[in-house]
Amino acid sequence: MGEAPEHVDVLIVGAGLSGIGAACHLQTDCPGKTYAVLEGREASGGTWDLFRYPGIRSDSDMFTLGYAFQPWLEAKSLADGPSILAYIRRTAREHGVDAHIRYRHRVVRADWSTADARWTVDVERGDTGETVRMTCGFLFSCTGYYRYDEGYSPDFAGTADFRGQIIHPQHWPEDLDYDGKRIVVVGSGATAVTLIPSLAERAAHVTMLQRSPSYVVALPAHDPIAAFIRRVLPVKVAYPVVRWKNVLTATLFFQLSRRAPKLVRRFIRKGVQAQLPEGYDVDTHFAPRYDPWDQRVCLVPDGDLFTAIRRGQASVVTDRIETFTPDGLRLASGAELPADIVVLATGLNLLALGGMQLAVDGRDVRLRDTVGYKGMMLSGVPNFAVTLGYTNASWTLKADLTFEYVCRLLRHMDEHGYRQVTPRPRDATRETEPFIDLTAGYVLRSIDDFPRQGRHTPWRLHQNYPRDIAMLRHGSVEDDAIVFSAGTPVVGASAR
Ligand SMILES: Cc1cc2nc3c(=O)[nH]c(=O)nc-3n(C[C@H](O)[C@H](O)[C@H](O)COP(=O)(O)OP(=O)(O)OC[C@H]3O[C@@H](n4cnc5c(N)ncnc54)[C@H](O)[C@@H]3O)c2cc1C
Repeated sequence: MGEAPEHVDVLIVGAGLSGIGAACHLQTDCPGKTYAVLEGREASGGTWDLFRYPGIRSDSDMFTLGYAFQPWLEAKSLADGPSILAYIRRTAREHGVDAHIRYRHRVVRADWSTADARWTVDVERGDTGETVRMTCGFLFSCTGYYRYDEGYSPDFAGTADFRGQIIHPQHWPEDLDYDGKRIVVVGSGATAVTLIPSLAERAAHVTMLQRSPSYVVALPAHDPIAAFIRRVLPVKVAYPVVRWKNVLTATLFFQLSRRAPKLVRRFIRKGVQAQLPEGYDVDTHFAPRYDPWDQRVCLVPDGDLFTAIRRGQASVVTDRIETFTPDGLRLASGAELPADIVVLATGLNLLALGGMQLAVDGRDVRLRDTVGYKGMMLSGVPNFAVTLGYTNASWTLKADLTFEYVCRLLRHMDEHGYRQVTPRPRDATRETEPFIDLTAGYVLRSIDDFPRQGRHTPWRLHQNYPRDIAMLRHGSVEDDAIVFSAGTPVVGASAR
């Protein structure tokens, strides 16, 4: 018999914004628990370490993208990637979490045993090449939502003939020389609108080539109201005040978009028109066919995208790629677009649970057969939670509530001597919907590999922070849809 695998009370998978936040909460709220953070890469920070393209920044404000427990102290409200990475790593250092992170540890599989009330987890080590085994009482997935090894690239004709460079923002070459080059950025989402003003500073010209427009809204990079509040109040008070101001503004904007889409559409269009030259074809390039918040709304700090267009450094073409040519792109309209560099800002490949395969009592869990409970646990999967932030507000607002809730759950189990907690499979409503309700292509491509959501609380994902506070911070952890037990099997636990 070999040695028993190392055991921890809680195993956190992923050392990005979420994994580090989860560890900070666990240390503070459940000080007796042993834990480890397993990170597949060689560095922490996740998204904010991976993406290195020029101009990389947040497109939600840092007072809500920052953790509730760690004030964001910089002046900029929409911050650059390196500052966000530094903030995440400083948080890990200050809370002593970094000592618990094991790098190059990729979790590939986790098997729950009801008899033992623990997970057995298989971990591939990138440094030694071996697979090691650990066990834990609670598995906490903080693995983000997309594939790290490759972004999404549609199959375009003629790429082999193109004499220039094709770049994906997820793998930006550190030494890429784009001074004086003609660049085409394919895409219209957050990445495209972030890249373009930054590239335009040094390129000969940047063209944003989009199949269809997105909503683009200009916001001040430095929030003047936040700056005033921070001048007159001490940090500890100012941070939550600014946070709440931003939460309420964003919630109001989202709710208004849902209830009065025509009004919001007109409002956004007016804002765009005011920033662009007289006679600019706003309807072709900046008026989407869908309603605001059917897909994410892109925010641009100080309208930098519009400034680049006004100055003639950047332009927008709304058309389809027919084929790459040796010198650039030929479009469906017949137009030719010359290019030295083509950047494919065509999106991410979604990936649930960082590719981990879960199994419960010997049966593999098929995620699409599970239903999310309170947006963080899965029907039929014991002692497991996943951090998935909001799609209509800052990720961290929901992530912070998730950490808090998991800690409440763990304390509740300790107080009552429970070893197992399972969202009841039979209560997961039969009528389910996709987990993410955005209609963007990157969501639709992979949504079948994700869990589902139900029509009603607690199976419904409300994407509403004030409502989630009521449920996750103040609501009871016991309800009809969840079973706590001292370790006896839950009937049907491995299938919905
Ligand atoms: C370019 C870009 C800009 C964004 N801007 C914003 C924004 O402005 N506002 C906002 O709210 N959201 C934004 N997001 C969403 C963003 O991903 C979240 O805000 C946040 O960074 C997610 O943190 P996370 O730790 O949950 O996931 P990630 O940052 O993805 O980190 C996950 C970590 O888990 C590790 N991991 C994954 N699978 C495994 C495994 N099997 N084993 C071990 N380790 C694993 C990864 O290596 C990674 O380090 C943006 C996303 C992108 C791609």
